[in-house]
Amino acid sequence: MTIIPPGSTIGILGSGQLGRMLAVAAAQLGYRCHIYAPETGPACDVAAAFTQGAYDDAAELAAFARRCQVVTYEFENIEPAAIDAAAAHVPVVPGRASLETAAHRAREKQLAELCGGRPAPWHRVGSRDEFDAALAAIGTPAILKTATEGYDGKGQARIASPDDADAAWAAVEGRECVLEGMVAFTHEFSILLVRGTDGASIAYPPPHNEHESGILARSSVPAPDAIGAQAGAAAALATRLAERLGHVGVLTCEFFATADGPVFNEMAPRVHNSGHWTIEGAVTSQFENHIRAICGLPLGSTALTGAAVEMTNLIGADANGWPALLAERDAHLHLYGKHEVRPGRKMGHVTRVRR
Ligand code: AMP
Repeated sequence: MTIIPPGSTIGILGSGQLGRMLAVAAAQLGYRCHIYAPETGPACDVAAAFTQGAYDDAAELAAFARRCQVVTYEFENIEPAAIDAAAAHVPVVPGRASLETAAHRAREKQLAELCGGRPAPWHRVGSRDEFDAALAAIGTPAILKTATEGYDGKGQARIASPDDADAAWAAVEGRECVLEGMVAFTHEFSILLVRGTDGASIAYPPPHNEHESGILARSSVPAPDAIGAQAGAAAALATRLAERLGHVGVLTCEFFATADGPVFNEMAPRVHNSGHWTIEGAVTSQFENHIRAICGLPLGSTALTGAAVEMTNLIGADANGWPALLAERDAHLHLYGKHEVRPGRKMGHVTRVRR
């Protein structure tokens, strides 16, 4: 791919906080960002242009793409047809294969297996009969997840005992699902890998991720030894996945650390909440490295800037604590400019770097 020089316009599908932080990183390198989304959002406040349009509006997508030199996306729940509509005019990076695989839990698990990875025991579920058969095979505890459009613990139902089966099935409303066995993990972690157009890739030190109510609460680096011991195998799997997909940009893979080694959970073909610490905590942030990768520029160092880094999400009313966070010397406060505080909504984050 040719280099997209600074001064060019980068299109971003999606208007959330990931798009916002991508646009800020892009601006620092001299790029303009043009956001395309069905509704305004945090990214629009910091971007050079915004087109409000539906993801199935091929004509509007084409007009948007013609105003950009490259298009990327900040979330994966976009119909592949939207990628095609833009890709007819301009490179869309990462490509369709990354999006289609990561947006579907069964496809990403299959690919992980093909690349030598180990997901939780799982079965595809497309009907009540298949669900009952899968539950009989996997046993309880188990977790039923919609195959698409699940995030932050949404689209999931936990099944502690067979008595929970009816409620779990009702919760997913007959949608295509996967049933997973519960993994007995000691820790959760992610591999944030960035792969350039030349095929070279580099990973960040893996963060230890702690969730509350299915939502990421905290990411910290360096991770405990139990994660460190499994990070090499996990990073090697992420690299194989990225190569197989021909992925360019950041690819995030989430893992469970278990007594038997890393268990692959899921992947995202994009920058990720568990990498927000890299803005102040790494020499080059995940956002800048994604921009560098999709523009064909050399990748930047992923080394830590301090001895330890911790990112804490500000969820719902947590964000009301911003005055105290501003007063903290080593705290870097990020607020996403969302006006309405809702329980479970990611309003911002704070990163603390210990020198
Ligand atoms: P997910 O949306 O798949 O990342 O799931 C959200 C969170 O639920 C994970 O970060 C875990 O804390 C938990 N979880 C999901 N799947 C499993 C599993 N198979 N076994 C144990 N915990 C899980």
